[in-house]
Amino acid sequence: MAGNWKMHKLTSEAKELVNGLNTSIAGVDESVGVLVCPPFTALVEVASTLKGTKIKLGAQNMHWEEKGAFTGEVTAAMLKDVGCEYVIVGHSERRHIFGETDENVNRKVNAALNAGLRPIVCVGETEKQREDGETEAVVTRQVIEGLDGLTSKQMTDIVIAYEPVWAIGTGKNATPDQAQVVHALIRGIVAREFDESTAEKLPILYGGSVKPSNALELMSQEDIDGALVGGASLDADSFAEIVRAGVDASG
Ligand code: PEP
Repeated sequence: MAGNWKMHKLTSEAKELVNGLNTSIAGVDESVGVLVCPPFTALVEVASTLKGTKIKLGAQNMHWEEKGAFTGEVTAAMLKDVGCEYVIVGHSERRHIFGETDENVNRKVNAALNAGLRPIVCVGETEKQREDGETEAVVTRQVIEGLDGLTSKQMTDIVIAYEPVWAIGTGKNATPDQAQVVHALIRGIVAREFDESTAEKLPILYGGSVKPSNALELMSQEDIDGALVGGASLDADSFAEIVRAGVDASG
């Protein structure tokens, strides 16, 4: 279960949130991994607060180059250096607000893997694309181009998040059936492009208005392995409830 905090939380607030989350999930079955992705400015503080806990740390973005004149950007090695194990790549807000392409995503995925970070590769269609019957084509292209050139061994470090753009931050989640169809599609693409065993082991998260009230039903779908949670991860108790739903769904 991964929390994407987006552009929220000062360092003091970030510390308070992870302390609260750690308390709220105490005693919860550890078979479900918990990850938080704060903004860059809070990573160092959160890394030190998380020491000795089971909660892992991720970032929300990175650049693909190893160094250079890229004002405002950070490298994978910098994220690793401050304690990140994961990085979100190709979030729809990066694609649609900042113009990231599938080629950019692929470069970031490679750079993250080379630095020892696990990329969470986000894919998903817009409302218009769904209405026009393009969901399958869009998601297929994003998966194939985003993962282009990777080996099956590298795939063991990949996480995919299916996040329909129309469901992000809107309160409108995909129904469990709608999400399951696309998750199964993604697993099928990975089986075809790599192999069955890689596809079976691949964690595929659902994201888009996940909240305590819908998490169990979504997580109970066969090909939904977890959630990437935005808004509801900003509150320790609601994120902890979603984590518990994940445990219930896996049991
Ligand atoms: C997200 O930011 O990845 C997300 C899914 O947001 P929300 O849960 O707020 O829809």
